[in-house]
Amino acid sequence: MIDGFGRKAEYLRISVTDRCNLRCQYCMPDKGVTFRHHEEMLRYEEMLRLVRILAKAGVKKVRLTGGEPTVRRDLVWFVRQLSEVEGIEQLALTTNGLKFCEMAEELYDAGLRAVNISLDTLNEEVYRQITGHYGAKKAVDAVNIALRTGYRVKVNCVPIKNVNARYLPEVAYLARDRAVDVRFIELMPIGCGQSFEGVSTEDVKLILKNALGDFREEADYFSERQAGPDLSGPAKYVRFKDFEGRCGFISPMSDCFCDRCNRLRLTADGYIKPCLYSAEKVNVCSLLRSEASDEDILEAVSSVLRNKNQRHSFGEAVPGPERRRMNEIGG
Ligand code: SAM
Ligand code: SF4
Repeated sequence: MIDGFGRKAEYLRISVTDRCNLRCQYCMPDKGVTFRHHEEMLRYEEMLRLVRILAKAGVKKVRLTGGEPTVRRDLVWFVRQLSEVEGIEQLALTTNGLKFCEMAEELYDAGLRAVNISLDTLNEEVYRQITGHYGAKKAVDAVNIALRTGYRVKVNCVPIKNVNARYLPEVAYLARDRAVDVRFIELMPIGCGQSFEGVSTEDVKLILKNALGDFREEADYFSERQAGPDLSGPAKYVRFKDFEGRCGFISPMSDCFCDRCNRLRLTADGYIKPCLYSAEKVNVCSLLRSEASDEDILEAVSSVLRNKNQRHSFGEAVPGPERRRMNEIGG
């Protein structure tokens, strides 16, 4: 599947639920959240049919996200089914890590091999300020358990001015003695994210450099990509002296990577979106629940992909048309 600008769609991100056991301020509001009704959510069997269709059309990687994917029942069963879909080469999960600690082994046995754990600070009070709950230690436990179990582990941290900015070196330090990639992601002005001010990659690098010393740039990800198919994402990496793991920077605001975007997103209520920020979408839930054939469904997805925008419109005077929150779209 190729979009109107020649970009191949090889990577599907599935929001398995819009619910979550945390309330990160920049992602979903603390109070007054209304969740979609059970019947409005895509069933696992429906997601599986869609993945099989898309895998035949070239999708090679699936990431489960949300909301918090570990709060949906029978996730292990779903992972096992996905791992058996022909053509899916990589299966990954993005999680806040809290429930993952107890599920790490079962998920690994079911075929999951890669996990991104979100952790914006190691300071419990700041963690609580951001998420509404204490849990920083548990999230670090999740990183350690994931490494012990054999996963490829990344940590995701969203730097926010006057909230966690001064605690970033501690998060980066997780990569000192661990084979993890700690990635700093620029805050995107989506949903609740619009009420906060993120920290640019340039400023994060300065904060880290002042605290941890010099770093060396790792192999340029463009050349890595030229070496063959790449499903690893848009982070650019550096390594601090004597660090086992790397630090990475994902910069949707200051260094737009839309020209290399290979993603499709499936929302928990069954819409395929070719871009996080655009209103372009197709309701595959209603197609999956109709008489539509696999070919009809593939054509509907291909058609919305052909209309994918060339780039996002973050930072432009006119706000983008997406009104949903991150937990609804799938971050
Ligand atoms: N609950 C899981 C978690 O927290 O990892 C998966 C869903 S969460 C929406 C996925 C990632 O999106 C998290 O790392 C979170 O920090 C990030 N995120 C949420 N809102 C964001 C925003 N406005 N800008 C940048 N990243 C955001
Ligand atoms: Fe939940 Fe993840 Fe959003 Fe935090 S970022 S509220 S953990 S979905």
